Amino acid sequence: MKNRKPRTKLVHGGTRRSQWGEVSEAMFLTQGFVYDSAEQAEQRFIQAGPDEYIYARYGNPTVAMFEDRIAMLEGAEDAFATASGMAAVNGALMSMLKAGDHLVSARALFGSCLYIVEDILPRYGVEVTLVDGADLGQWRAAVGPDTRAVFFESMSNPALELVDIAAVSEIARAHGATVVVDNVFSTPVFSDALAQGADVVIYSSTKHIDGQGRTLGGVILGTRDHIRKVVEPYMKHTGGSMSPFTAWVQLKGLETLDLRVRAQAKSAQEIAESLEGHPALRRVIYPGLPSHPQAALAQRQLGSGSTMVAIELAGGKDAAFAFLNALGIIVISNNLGDAKSIVTHPATTTHQRLAAEQRDMLGITDGLVRLSIGIEDTEDLIDDIQSALAAV
Ligand SMILES: *Cc1c(COP(=O)(O)O)cnc(C)c1O
Repeated sequence: MKNRKPRTKLVHGGTRRSQWGEVSEAMFLTQGFVYDSAEQAEQRFIQAGPDEYIYARYGNPTVAMFEDRIAMLEGAEDAFATASGMAAVNGALMSMLKAGDHLVSARALFGSCLYIVEDILPRYGVEVTLVDGADLGQWRAAVGPDTRAVFFESMSNPALELVDIAAVSEIARAHGATVVVDNVFSTPVFSDALAQGADVVIYSSTKHIDGQGRTLGGVILGTRDHIRKVVEPYMKHTGGSMSPFTAWVQLKGLETLDLRVRAQAKSAQEIAESLEGHPALRRVIYPGLPSHPQAALAQRQLGSGSTMVAIELAGGKDAAFAFLNALGIIVISNNLGDAKSIVTHPATTTHQRLAAEQRDMLGITDGLVRLSIGIEDTEDLIDDIQSALAAV
């Protein structure tokens, strides 16, 4: 399977069949595993071989299928699946950092990621420096010989700013720092973060990988040594492992991931183009538009603008709320990457916790609206957005 194309890997990668020869992956909904003998149990606790299981917090065949499939797509040696995207972010950082270490992180982060970096890590003696992720000068100034790791979202939420993975990785590597990338907005379909220099890649699989709004999950990808010696001991002893039910749902999500995400991104591109210059909008932010300040980087790093579009309504919060309330197909929620198109007003929901000046610094104005484009018909979505804008 390793030499096959991504779509083939997504359908067949990691498959294990039971003695029944089922076509669709089996869900092994079990916490534990029976040993043939006391000797076998002892042996397994000394050293579990491949596909030898002990307890579902340590590993499970359905979860292993999910891990192998996503690792194959990413070109990663190994993966550890987690209970949520935040379990993955927390596990990736906590498993490798200790008191006295220095972490440099981009400032534009998902609220919960920011909480880990700004509130939790410093409590345990990790020194954290926040930088503007798009400004390589700031990365260069902040990363030094004591820096143990750098962390960033390769495309930020919700302002869709990119971080140059190759350039930041080069800066980090010069000081021996590990590069940890939250790659959710870039998606596993468009991003090749490991090949571009990242050491550890994280996904909230709640988003595009599930893709149909059912389950919370996450995954940490990296070298076999890093996943098995650093990540796995932390995750299996602290309880953030993925459930077999989630793994089963998300294995099916992986099968259609490429088809869905490519259709979503194509639609997002057309929607962004149709909105540019609209009189009710101050700006349209989409990395696939030539007007995006990092359009060239988006092409080089992703070859796509991905599935999210942000628009800033000229009329501020009132206009944004009127727009949200006038939409007919696109639902008001806060997930993303879903088959259903979703609209979010970040300033009053996902980023409400931030101080006003922090929001300003991140471009999260009262008029900013985030759209996650789903797989509905593009013309219907454009019609829905245009009608709602007309009602503003
Ligand atoms: C959603 C999200 C997370 C957290 O994932 P959960 O599955 O909700 O825990 C982390 N990072 C980014 C960029 C996200 O969008």
